[in-house]
Amino acid sequence: MPAVNLGLPAVRPRPAAPPGMDEVGRRVDVALRGIRVTAPVHREAGAGPSDDGHVLWNGDQAAIPVKPDSPYSVSGGRLLLDSGDAGPIDLGIDVAPVRRPRFYDLRTADGTPYEQIARLHGRNVLATTVVQTCVRYAEDQRCRFCAIEASLDAGATIAVKTPAMLAEVARAARDLDGVEQMVMTTGTSNGWDRGAKHLARCVAAVVEAVPDLAIQVQIEPPRSLRAIQDLFDAGARSIGIHVESMDDGVRRRWMPGKSTVTLDEYRAAWSEAVRVFGRNQVSTYLLVGLGEDPDDIPRWADELIALGVYPFVVPFRPLAGTLATDVDRVPSPDREILETVSRRVAALLISAGMLGGEQKAGCAACGACGVLKTAGA
Ligand code: SF4
Repeated sequence: MPAVNLGLPAVRPRPAAPPGMDEVGRRVDVALRGIRVTAPVHREAGAGPSDDGHVLWNGDQAAIPVKPDSPYSVSGGRLLLDSGDAGPIDLGIDVAPVRRPRFYDLRTADGTPYEQIARLHGRNVLATTVVQTCVRYAEDQRCRFCAIEASLDAGATIAVKTPAMLAEVARAARDLDGVEQMVMTTGTSNGWDRGAKHLARCVAAVVEAVPDLAIQVQIEPPRSLRAIQDLFDAGARSIGIHVESMDDGVRRRWMPGKSTVTLDEYRAAWSEAVRVFGRNQVSTYLLVGLGEDPDDIPRWADELIALGVYPFVVPFRPLAGTLATDVDRVPSPDREILETVSRRVAALLISAGMLGGEQKAGCAACGACGVLKTAGA
């Protein structure tokens, strides 16, 4: 398939990180340049934009690209920066890989490894894609940053997780590994619910098995908004409705199928979700590095915050198995832009009193894939 014109600036060599950067600046730099570390909890592919090793960064969950050519490494539980002949510099930041969870060693009665049903994200988040196929996955329709079916093709997961399977794995993950929250996403279906009906059945089964596990669901805006109430009634307590960009030109280039869902449909779904789930229990991803005007992202965040929706700002990550990486060769975003945008959005969130840590479950609560948490939001 030929590359499409994604409207991105020419690739520039990444400048060296300035010395003496603060923790937010360092977190941004590491998010982009990666780290040399053995991370037993590592996501190779899947829905959405992540492909990272999971570590604890000064105790907070962080999902960071594992790159053998990174100048950052970990030794003695500390983040080190290569500095040529002078040897590595200790940057004063504690970094510890998340250990492999014990539930990964178990299988269902029919022999399916638990690891193929749900995965550990960070230290305490159980994550699953309940339906690993997407109606929009034709090459000319799929989101160019998404690899939802790549892990299925690789045999790393199964196409459909049943409510009973998820309840079994959730119970084990809570009992053996102290998992505290769960994220359930889904590929989009053709129906009015766009996948929400099966999600709701899965939520209900997990809540019945593990009532103290907080659950976030992630869906596209459903054609009938009653699906949002159904998900809450099933027991979900946070919801992600992910737009990725609010620039329609960017949406059409990067998400040809999903951009047929209009921004007004997103706004209606966010409003209904805030009515049902409450202010700051609703979130959306905003990706940095899709060729948008960087000044737009804080503007979009402002609108979202006024609605009661947490804008979870994350860098675009080049992920093997996606069209953006394999065909378009899109690089990760510019460091200064990511840092400036993240700081501006974090300041907006802080002044609105909307912190990710106050969400009951989900990506904003976890925070690992962005830097907003390091910036105080
Ligand atoms: S932010 Fe979301 S996708 Fe990223 S590790 Fe946390 S739960 Fe998983």
